[in-house]
Amino acid sequence: MSQLILNLDKLRHNIRFLSRHCREHGLGITGIIKDPCADQIIINQMMALGFENIGISKVPKNPAAKPVFSKRPIYITLPSIHELPDIVRYFGTSFNSEITVIEQLNQTAIAMNCSHSILLMVDTGDLREGVMPEQVLDTVREIHRIRPRNINFAGIGTNLGCCAGTLPDEHNLGIISELADQIEYTLDIEVKTVSVGGSVLLKWLQQKPLPGRINNIRLGESLFLGTIPTINQVHPDLDTRVATFTSDILEIQEKRVMPPQLCGKDALGTLPEFSHQGIRKRAILNFGICDTCPSGLTPIIPGIQIVSVNSNYTLADITDCTHPLKVGDFIDFTMNYQAFLQSLISPFTQIRYLE
Ligand SMILES: *Cc1c(COP(=O)(O)O)cnc(C)c1O
Repeated sequence: MSQLILNLDKLRHNIRFLSRHCREHGLGITGIIKDPCADQIIINQMMALGFENIGISKVPKNPAAKPVFSKRPIYITLPSIHELPDIVRYFGTSFNSEITVIEQLNQTAIAMNCSHSILLMVDTGDLREGVMPEQVLDTVREIHRIRPRNINFAGIGTNLGCCAGTLPDEHNLGIISELADQIEYTLDIEVKTVSVGGSVLLKWLQQKPLPGRINNIRLGESLFLGTIPTINQVHPDLDTRVATFTSDILEIQEKRVMPPQLCGKDALGTLPEFSHQGIRKRAILNFGICDTCPSGLTPIIPGIQIVSVNSNYTLADITDCTHPLKVGDFIDFTMNYQAFLQSLISPFTQIRYLE
């Protein structure tokens, strides 16, 4: 039985710290959850403790059945032209970069008699979604030319530290801030939101405020793991122990570990390794890639080494573990973000809240 244990006190600590810290820098926070079916408990904590909104990266399977937000959340992925009605129904705002999609979103919003806001994404160097900075004015002009227009141009946004590992600097942050001014001066169109993400921006905020016009920050990983991605650092003011993965031992046997005579690849196509050979104490743990990302887990007690992973098992060498372990015992792990996300979305991993 696999569980993702979420410590709500520690989560609240992180939410409170980030709310205060970002407010001091004039920033509203969009709390990022990659799971559209995310438990309401997490979202409630974020909204109750000062976050401005929630950003979600997937369209829920049944958007009509879950109007659970007091405020419609933000769709932080580019809308697929095949899913526009669901996006307009469920989300108040979406991130966009393609004028043809924006036109269709507008048609959809008109047909549904619904309002919908868009944030124009700008590629400031991380090579993720977005128009190039020099195309921004023309694109905003085109958006405003759409008639009749039900969609509302809410502002601009950019991503850092995601695809190219681009760190925030004066240059890329300056681009997005100056573009907001240019749109207002040149086109006389209000830019309400200037949004940057994700948690990599926290490194910058440890030293100084973000340039002028930036007024929204999107944070995901740091909330749950207390870490700053891209530079792989722990944030000194955040708690790293919000989330723990735990699962039980199904088998403990002494095995003769040696390379087979005829050796191919394992179930997942990786070449098996036999770092410790001879008689070894091996444990089979009750999870695999259906439940989490096993390679992103680190056992909290020492002496446990993950040696093989498949769809439903994770095999560990426990020969060097001094803790007395037996079948049925639970082993706790810390997680990287990939393991956290995959356990959060797996239907087989139960989420347990610790008060
Ligand atoms: C996931 C995501 C974020 C959050 O990034 P973290 O580094 O996890 O804080 C922000 N913006 C967008 C568009 C995202 O997809």
